[in-house]
Amino acid sequence: MDRIHDEDSARPYLESIEFILERGRDILEKNGSAMDAVETCATLLEDNPLFNAGRGSVFNERGLVENDAAIMNGVDLEAGAVAAISGIANPVQLARRVLDNSRHVLLVGQGALEFARQEGFSLVDQSYFHTDSRWQDYQRSLQCKTSALPGSDQQPGAGTIGAVARDNAGNLAAATSTGGMTGKLAGRVSDSPLPGAGVYADNSSCAVSCTGHGEHFMRSVLAKYIADLIEIKKLDARSSVTEAMDYLLQKVSGHGGVIVIDKQGHCASGRTSRTLIHGWIEHGGNSNCRYL
Ligand code: ASP
Repeated sequence: MDRIHDEDSARPYLESIEFILERGRDILEKNGSAMDAVETCATLLEDNPLFNAGRGSVFNERGLVENDAAIMNGVDLEAGAVAAISGIANPVQLARRVLDNSRHVLLVGQGALEFARQEGFSLVDQSYFHTDSRWQDYQRSLQCKTSALPGSDQQPGAGTIGAVARDNAGNLAAATSTGGMTGKLAGRVSDSPLPGAGVYADNSSCAVSCTGHGEHFMRSVLAKYIADLIEIKKLDARSSVTEAMDYLLQKVSGHGGVIVIDKQGHCASGRTSRTLIHGWIEHGGNSNCRYL
C-alpha cells in the first residue's frame, strides 16, 4: 500500500469513504435508524484493508491484532463496546450485540469472545488481518524500538475509523473501531471503545467519533467535552470542534482528530494531527470527502 502524502495517494481512501457515505445515505433515506447507518458504515470501513480497523488493523508488540470498537445510541445513551479482542472480523457488530443483547457496556478479551460465540459470530484466523503495509510498520517499530504510534501517524489519515449519523427522526448515533497503535502492549485498550473518550452520542447535543493518540483522548475525555460544549455552552458543531481542538492541545498536547454531527445535522471535523481523511453528507446534500 502506498503511503499517503498528497491528494493523489489519498484517492483510494477518499473513494472508499465516498462509496460508504452513499451506503449510509441509502439507509437514512429509507428512514433507517442512525444506529443502523453507523454500524453499516463502520462495518464497510472495517472490511477495507486500507483502514486501521477490522481487516487492516495494525499489529501489537507481539505481531498480533487486537481490536477495540464501540457504538452509542443518542436516544438513550445506551452503548456497547468490546476491547482487546482477537479474531473478530467486524468488532463494531460485536459491540452492537453487547448493546442489544447484554446488560453490560464493555466486554474485553476472552469473555468478549465467549459472548461472540454465543451470539453466533465465527472467529477468523489472524491471517485474515495480515496486510503487508501494517506488517512493515510493525517490523519498523521493532527496529526503531518505537512503539505505540497511532495508525494516523504512520499512515497519515489511515487510522481508526468512525461514523456519526442523524436519522430522519432526529436521533443521533456514533461508532468507532480501531486496531489501535502499532507495537502497543498486548491488552492495551484505546479510547475508541470508551464512551466519552473516543465515541459519544446524545440526542441533546451531538454524535462524535475520535481518532488519534488514544491516551490523549481518554485523559481529556474529549468526545464528552465536545458534547458538553454543545449542550451547556450552546455551541454548534463547528465552534465546539475548534474549541475542543484547543483544549486537546492545551491540556494534554493531544494528537488526533474528530468528526461530529450536531442535533441540527451540522457536520464538522477538526484535527491536531497532520492529516485527517474524512467525508460527510449534510442535510441530504452532496457527499464531500477531504484529505486535510
Ligand atoms: N485512537 C487509536 C488508539 O489510540 C488510534 C488511532 O486513532 O489511530 O489506539
